[in-house]
Amino acid sequence: MSSNEIVVPGEELAVIEEFSPSLGAYSDEKGFVRSSLVGMVLKDLINKIVKVNPVTTRYSFPSVKDIVIGYVSFLKGEIAMVNIVKDGNFKPLTGQLAGFLHISQIGTEGRHINEYIAPGDLIRARVISSENPFQLSIKHSSLGVILASCSQCGAILKKEGDKLICPKCGNIEKRKIASGYINLKWSY
Ligand SMILES: [Zn+2]
Repeated sequence: MSSNEIVVPGEELAVIEEFSPSLGAYSDEKGFVRSSLVGMVLKDLINKIVKVNPVTTRYSFPSVKDIVIGYVSFLKGEIAMVNIVKDGNFKPLTGQLAGFLHISQIGTEGRHINEYIAPGDLIRARVISSENPFQLSIKHSSLGVILASCSQCGAILKKEGDKLICPKCGNIEKRKIASGYINLKWSY
């Protein structure tokens, strides 16, 4: 076990002849030095001591009304499942966070969710429930699809007016586009 590795309680760090246990470590009756917590190993080679710095897990779960960024993973019936990956400022969230978007939270008259959103779309959404999986809403004009790719050729779609146009094959697609759609500047 070397420095900077993440260990779990009970994991062997060294033998007592090599290193003495310090904070976050202990020696067992067989002479093994083990970790007493989840943390990062720090070996002091000069003083021959080993310690484990606790990993501080600050789970940043979104709260109701927070804005989040996520990828649409799949559509099923009236629901789009979303992998929430960032908060509204594009800072990563910790943990596996799932979201779902019901067609009633899109804010349009459509009957089929695939008229407004597609798997692979990057969306900006508002969290409207407090448990994982989080219910999402894209009703506001600032919310919705912020990046989408062409279903025909896979190129990133460009926003022109209220449409998304494929710069590569000319395909036109419909989405519930957020006002902050990310128009990438590249050409084919
Ligand atoms: Zn295309």
